[in-house]
Amino acid sequence: MIIFGSRGSKIADLDVKGTTCSHCGQSDTQKVHVYGRYFHIFWIPFLTIGKKVYSECSHCKKTIEEESFPKELKQQYDAQSQNVKRPLWHSLGCLGFVGIIGVNIILALGALIWGTTKEPDTRDALYRADLSKLVSTPSFESDSLSFKLKSSFDKMDASMLDPLTFEYFAKVENEKVLFLMKVPDLKKVPKEKREVVTNIVNKFLDRQEGLKGKKRYIGIHGKYNMMMVNTPDTQENGNLVASLPLLDFYGEKKTK
Ligand SMILES: [Zn+2]
Repeated sequence: MIIFGSRGSKIADLDVKGTTCSHCGQSDTQKVHVYGRYFHIFWIPFLTIGKKVYSECSHCKKTIEEESFPKELKQQYDAQSQNVKRPLWHSLGCLGFVGIIGVNIILALGALIWGTTKEPDTRDALYRADLSKLVSTPSFESDSLSFKLKSSFDKMDASMLDPLTFEYFAKVENEKVLFLMKVPDLKKVPKEKREVVTNIVNKFLDRQEGLKGKKRYIGIHGKYNMMMVNTPDTQENGNLVASLPLLDFYGEKKTK
C-alpha cells in the first residue's frame, strides 16, 4: 500500500489566442493545461510541489510540454499564468498541521497562565468527598450529631419544607465543626425566611456541650448547589453561593 507520494490534479485550462500549431498549422486551436502536483500522506494533500504545464491542439491532439513552448505560446501562457491559483486543498494537510501546532501552543500558554494563577486547591477534594456523604437518615453510630439534628428538624414547623427530604453530614475536627445539609426545596422558601434553617442548626449546636467554642462551618445545599454558607468569616444567603469559605474547615489553602 502506498501511503505517501505525489499526485496531481488539473488546476486550470487556459485558452490562448493568436498561436499556430507547429504540427498541423491550425490557428487558435491550442489550449494550455496546468496540473498542480502535491505531496500526499494517506492521500491527504500535504505540500504543493510544482506544476506540470502543457499545451494541446484541439485539431491534431499534439501536446507540447512547457519547456518546448514556441515563443508566442510561451508569451500567451506567461501573461495568464499569474491568474492560475492553486486550490487551498492542495496544502490541506499542511494547514491542518500548522493548525494543530497553533492550538497546542495556545493550550500550552493557557496551561502556563492558568496553571500559575489557578493552582488546584487540595481542600476541594476533601470537601467534595464530605459533600457526597450526605444522607437523609444518619445513624447515631456513624454520625450522632446529624442523627440528633435530624430529630430537631423533624419536629420543625415549616409548611414549605418537608424534613423527610433533608440530608445531613457532620464532622468535628479539633476546634472546628462542619455541618453540611441538603434542603432540596429551599428555593421555594423566600430568601429572607431561609435563615430559619441555619437558626435551627445554630441553636442545636449551642446546646451541644462538647462543641462549645468550636468554630462553625455550616453549608446548606439546595437541590443543585450551595445556597447558604455560614462560617466565622462569611454569611452568605442566595440562590447560588460559593462553597469556598467552607474549605477553611480543612485548614489553610495548600496546593500541590
Ligand atoms: Zn495541431
